[in-house]
Amino acid sequence: MLLSTLWCAILGFSVVPETFAAPLTSDTPSNSAITDLERRWFSIKPGGQVQREWRSKVLLYCFHDAASQTKLSGLFDSGWQMWVNAGVSPDYATKSLISPCRQDALVVSATTGCEIFTSLGWSPVAWANTMRFDPSNECGFGNPVTNMAHEIGHSLGLIHEHQRSDASGIIKFDYDDCKNLKDYRRFKNMKNGKKPLYHMRSLCSNLNLASQAGFSARDMIPYTGLNAVPYVAGNRFDTRSIMLYSSRCGASPGGKDVLKFRDGSIIPPPTEVSRVDAERIRLLYPRPTPTP
Ligand SMILES: [Zn+2]
Repeated sequence: MLLSTLWCAILGFSVVPETFAAPLTSDTPSNSAITDLERRWFSIKPGGQVQREWRSKVLLYCFHDAASQTKLSGLFDSGWQMWVNAGVSPDYATKSLISPCRQDALVVSATTGCEIFTSLGWSPVAWANTMRFDPSNECGFGNPVTNMAHEIGHSLGLIHEHQRSDASGIIKFDYDDCKNLKDYRRFKNMKNGKKPLYHMRSLCSNLNLASQAGFSARDMIPYTGLNAVPYVAGNRFDTRSIMLYSSRCGASPGGKDVLKFRDGSIIPPPTEVSRVDAERIRLLYPRPTPTP
């Protein structure tokens, strides 16, 4: 599942078996006090069997080795602080560093080559929770702190905003954009004998095919149908989400942009965790109801 070419990757939907599927709902809370602001997000469902929220609201993490800790410890703290600044207090979710690593913790490793990858939510499967992170300035959003905040968002349970099933009304990702992906040419040149291994138009538009191939369009193509079933989305698209790729994510260095807004305008890198991002975390990790 890991690709050296990914810039802002998450663990794909393929870890979720179809038997886990349930009807797609808008996850509308029964609490009528929930405001429209709180309904813009794309995340795991609370209480899932395979990908779920962290137990006891604590993101338990450890570093794979001493070098990873040296490179990433401060960045992890800074990325977490962006969530705190947006309103995620320890009442909702917090983090705890442990050493040595445990099989139920998020194991954080430093990487190179802009390999950035974080498993989605918390999994009960031993050693399944991983973050692989290149702290270089040229990766992802071009800022390792905002990159880290984005990856922490995945670990807490949030999915790319641009992969919501309704994203095509807001975001443009067509075949011409797909050609600008960093690994497009590599996949285009793969051969099965003398024939091309992949039909690139299909690989650029079909989430299952892109995921199976390990092609980075899997981090761009909106989820539809069964792919979207295990997840829930709020009412409206959040254009300020830390989980929304900027136009440079996934692009070749010096090459053209990939994702854009529907009107062709550039998606700038985020500078903060949005209020809606933080609100979704507060809904996923609610404050306990006080007992009378
Ligand atoms: Zn991501």
